Amino acid sequence: MSARILVVDDIETNRCLLEARLSAEYFDVIEAEDGHKAIEAAREHNPDLILLDVMMPGIDGFETCRRLKADPALRHIPVVMVTALDQREDRIKGLEAGADEFLTKPVDDVALFARVRSLLRLKVVMDELRLRENAEALEKDADTLGGRIVVAAADEAGAQRIAAMYGDPFRAKACADPLNALRHALTADLVVIDLTHARFDGLRLAARIRSDVDTRQVPILGIVESDNRASMVRALDLGVTDVILRPVDPGELQARSRTQVRRKAYADALRDRLEESLEMAVTDALTGLHNRRYIVSRLRQHLDVLDRSGEGFAVALMDIDHFKRINDTFGHQAGDVVLKGFSDRLRKELRAVDIAGRYGGEEFLVLFTGATNEEALEGAERFRAAMARDPFVVPGTDEPINVTVSAGISAGERGDDVEDVVARADAALYEAKSSGRNQVIAWRKRAA
Ligand SMILES: [Mg+2]
Repeated sequence: MSARILVVDDIETNRCLLEARLSAEYFDVIEAEDGHKAIEAAREHNPDLILLDVMMPGIDGFETCRRLKADPALRHIPVVMVTALDQREDRIKGLEAGADEFLTKPVDDVALFARVRSLLRLKVVMDELRLRENAEALEKDADTLGGRIVVAAADEAGAQRIAAMYGDPFRAKACADPLNALRHALTADLVVIDLTHARFDGLRLAARIRSDVDTRQVPILGIVESDNRASMVRALDLGVTDVILRPVDPGELQARSRTQVRRKAYADALRDRLEESLEMAVTDALTGLHNRRYIVSRLRQHLDVLDRSGEGFAVALMDIDHFKRINDTFGHQAGDVVLKGFSDRLRKELRAVDIAGRYGGEEFLVLFTGATNEEALEGAERFRAAMARDPFVVPGTDEPINVTVSAGISAGERGDDVEDVVARADAALYEAKSSGRNQVIAWRKRAA
């Protein structure tokens, strides 16, 4: 599907010109001739990007941009303002109205497409995140701005000069050494890189920041020479988020930085929420262990690996002995404390590679990766003994509660379904229960 672009200009020839160039690049183009119609068209067609003329009768581009950005349904559409004059005041006014980018008339194709591509890439990521979340609730969080900025330049003095342009709420750190800059980027909200010195390979630094998993979310603002269009385009295509032209204007620097920092805070908040909800989908709320669905899916994976490569595993199905009696004697709250304490101990006893989940009410399943029957038996037995040794102290009850556990072990076998291996472990667990509890028994084929 091609990206849809809304072109807003009061002069028809301008619209046609842009339309022709964008269509030639297979963009889908919609047109509007004034601010009101632009907002209407944005609502109706949900464009991926808006190219917005500044000078228009009625409401001008700045006001149109402000209204677009004030509307929760529209504010995530990137807006590129198209100005007749490359005026510093206009740029700052536009940034303050919420514009994402600027292009100067007459619009240069190469610059146009570099900007459009860079903004569309960003929008795809943001849309993806927003799809899964209630975005509006997060915007307030995003407004509490960070503002840790790293300025990387060829020499200390040059970096300091840029860093000194920042005032509250920013804290800027000057770095002349790329490795040092990379280290500080780990905790930065924005990295500013001077791309104008032959001695300093700023693009390499930008590429490193983009490719490293720990820094790839950090926005980058590149400083480029105003007459070096090629370097601007290259920077944007390499993943620099925004560029500012030399000589750097402090007002514009701060306005552009603010936009980037706010966008990052918003994306971070979205990402955190998403991780949280993914976590909840695989975690049992009471015990913090994996839930049944997750543990079953891992079991299935390990059975696949076993079938393909012969790498084995074993499971232990565990059940707390006389759990109903604990609930009846001490109450459900005490029961919950025991379930939770049991899970904490289980987590502590296991190797990092083992996977434990709550399988049912007081039933737990542990997957011992790479383990034989005997090794799983040893692991489960160690845990059983630790449980029997240390009673639980439950707040609000006078006496410590003795809790024991029974477990049945079975190794996975080639050709097994999940049900097969769990059924064998369950049969062994039944044997452990019926022959006295507080013990671990491994399944074995009976002589017929
Ligand atoms: Mg105009």
